[in-house]
Amino acid sequence: MKIAVLTSGGDSAGMNAVVRAVVKAGILKGCETWIVREGYEGLVRGNADAEPTETPSLKPAVDVKVREPSFIQNLRFGDGELLRDGTGDHTGGRTLKGRYIIRVGWDDVRGWFAECECALSRPVQGGTLIGTARSAAFRTQEGRLKAAYNLIKEGIDALAVCGGDGSLTGADVFRAEWPQLLQTLHANGQITDEQLQKHGHLRIVGLVGSIDNDMSMTDLTIGAPTALHRICEAIDNIHSTANSHSRAFVLEVMGRHCGWLALLAGVSSGADFVFIPERPPQADPWEDMMCDAIKRHREIGKRKTIVIVAEGAHDSQLKPIQASYVKDVLADRLGLDTRVTTLGHIQRGGRPCAWDRILPTLQGLEAVDALLEATPDKPSYMIGMRENRVTRVPLMEAVAMTQSVTAAIKAKDFEKAMSLRDPEFQESLKGFFATSTLETEMLLPPAKRIRVAIMHMGAPAGGMNAATRAAVRYCLRQGHTPLAISNGFRGLLDDNIYELSWLGVDNWMVRGGSELGTNRQLPDVDLGAVAAKFQEYGIQALLVIGGFEAFNSLVILEEGRKYYPAFHIPMVHIPATISNNVPMTELSLGTDTSMNALVDACDAIKQSASASRNRVFVVETQGGMCGYIAVMGALAVGASIVYTPEAGIDLNMLRADVKFLKARYGLDVKGKSEGRIVIRSEKSSSIYTTDVITQVYKEEGGALFDARGASLGHTLQGGVPSPLDRAAAVRFSLKSMAFIEQQHEILMKQPAKTRTAAPDSAAVITIQSSSIQWVPVKEMVAHADMKLRRGKHTWWQDMKGLVETLVARTQPHLPS
Ligand code: ATP
Repeated sequence: MKIAVLTSGGDSAGMNAVVRAVVKAGILKGCETWIVREGYEGLVRGNADAEPTETPSLKPAVDVKVREPSFIQNLRFGDGELLRDGTGDHTGGRTLKGRYIIRVGWDDVRGWFAECECALSRPVQGGTLIGTARSAAFRTQEGRLKAAYNLIKEGIDALAVCGGDGSLTGADVFRAEWPQLLQTLHANGQITDEQLQKHGHLRIVGLVGSIDNDMSMTDLTIGAPTALHRICEAIDNIHSTANSHSRAFVLEVMGRHCGWLALLAGVSSGADFVFIPERPPQADPWEDMMCDAIKRHREIGKRKTIVIVAEGAHDSQLKPIQASYVKDVLADRLGLDTRVTTLGHIQRGGRPCAWDRILPTLQGLEAVDALLEATPDKPSYMIGMRENRVTRVPLMEAVAMTQSVTAAIKAKDFEKAMSLRDPEFQESLKGFFATSTLETEMLLPPAKRIRVAIMHMGAPAGGMNAATRAAVRYCLRQGHTPLAISNGFRGLLDDNIYELSWLGVDNWMVRGGSELGTNRQLPDVDLGAVAAKFQEYGIQALLVIGGFEAFNSLVILEEGRKYYPAFHIPMVHIPATISNNVPMTELSLGTDTSMNALVDACDAIKQSASASRNRVFVVETQGGMCGYIAVMGALAVGASIVYTPEAGIDLNMLRADVKFLKARYGLDVKGKSEGRIVIRSEKSSSIYTTDVITQVYKEEGGALFDARGASLGHTLQGGVPSPLDRAAAVRFSLKSMAFIEQQHEILMKQPAKTRTAAPDSAAVITIQSSSIQWVPVKEMVAHADMKLRRGKHTWWQDMKGLVETLVARTQPHLPS
């Protein structure tokens, strides 16, 4: 099959990774792969002014005779130079002038993760390398007739389209019209009887590339996480100037019909107020409500004010709310020195974050499968992401649902608009309200208010402080007393315990590390003394944020309930560890931050490798006995090999790896080899260390390749936590507080003297298939390998195979 891929509509980070994944997966499945430049416009223009396809300059770059000639032809078809000078015209020997539909090979898309240029030491360039456009011609039947002709001319009948809802609607229209277009082309004598027969069915698949995250039936669109990164980076930078001058900033962010970016930016940056299209301010006039809230914040000493406005924001009567107007209101009514910052296209640019490399890779692979399995009687599919899994949904159903949100907003049915968004969106909005506004009155009556102790345990992880801030804000809003325990159980025994305030935690969203200080000391160091401290400080609930030790501590405390009444309180563990080794949860806080730190480091390492192109970098990651960060990191940076503690390392493995690297470097075009990355999780083997592997590669690589080692160490804990970690921290924290309140209420129904907490009141908040599940610590033990400090089952194990697939390791001509 001949598969073509195009990017359309507004560009978004991750589109290049889609092209890379579709091309690689297509080749691996034995297809011929093509790209279409400039979206549908390129399809309409085709190669009309250019030479026919089979010119000598488009032949495979090197003639290699091997067992799998067709695969190798595809592998070696390109020379790795396609479109790399950024003008869209340079092809390293192949001319693109007037040519929009181009055959590509494996090496043409190597390194396209980081929008590619870093591999060649050029400035990182955003957007889509194959170009995108908004094509008026494709909206007409005449244009689509030309597009159909151009595809058939090249023998292509499978198309992967990456774009927003407009692009996907265009794809569906094209497919529905295809038989009719073919008949017309045949009647005009433009295609032969044979072509008519052969191309009767157009296979189409859609991938959602859109920074707004505005598509229904998928949790996350390609490009949205990176745009959120850009926004949060900007707000993080604004914080310092706002604070210095005691200013207010009104930021306008993208989102005509969808407030996801504004809302998530508001939650992750700790903004004071947000305006989104799906839920206009509930008060009338809203200006009073906003000013009251901000005035309260200022009165207790807050020096900065951040308001975020989605570009499509409006009031309940659909009157647009513009950033400039919000600025005037703040300046006139509150006398605040207020500035407007419109982020505009900055939000689209820059290197893709880790998720925008992993997500398009997984979806691109699925897209090719969907194309191969497409039949005339099945609908076209959109590849989405639901519940942490890649999904296929009928394309038009998703587009129709997306449009119904817009329709609901237009009809002022905001409740319906909100209900059509996914549950995470709704929870984020609740989370924003609970953590952003200082209430005038506490929400709970005195009898229901409790003293909640908060503690960090284990190594610092991105999001620990954000989770604490959310818990503190929630506590104060309800009327509870939030108590910080510094330095874990050691700190508790040393009376390192104090109350936290609403303003005191204000800047904690963006802070990495642990503001409370962490410690690995388990409570069994002196369980009796720990119980006495619980009693002394009147602790009525415990929230522990941390890794495996945190879970272990709760197991010990729960066991201790047999002897100490002070432990008969609700106890919750929020997993926060870059190792992601807490059993039964798919994701811990800190993993996203860590993955981004890894991606940043590997991009820089690759750039360094460009100076001496044939160099293998063996990069060592943290992770303890859990290979999560190594495996997912390998997927995110396009590593060639990944070593994990789960799989271990032996001599046969190393021998095969060296053979593979030799074979792969042997296939590179002379002088155009690039650096390759190998990732080794720190505890993969005590014998085959990073240094040993590097030396082995160096020795065996001979003239083909050189090797260097690099240990990322504690840099993987990251600096500023990623927006997704911060947002998840707020969500987990508020769920945990609700759990604590619920469990406390159950306990209060019992007589004080014989109060007995049920085992499930000591629990871990987990993500299982993207839904939040509470697992009693007792039950967790059965799923944990307490010696190796990791879960017995992992959902990400298969991803190691995927890393190998994406470097063609599983092909018969290359050693496996
Ligand atoms: P973004 O979310 O960035 O706006 P989008 O894919 O929604 O991306 P649009 O401009 O709506 O962007 O659509 C991109 C292209 O898709 C259009 O320029 C047009 O060529 C094609 N297209 C959109 N709607 C249709 C349609 N109903 N019929 C045919 N083609 C369409």
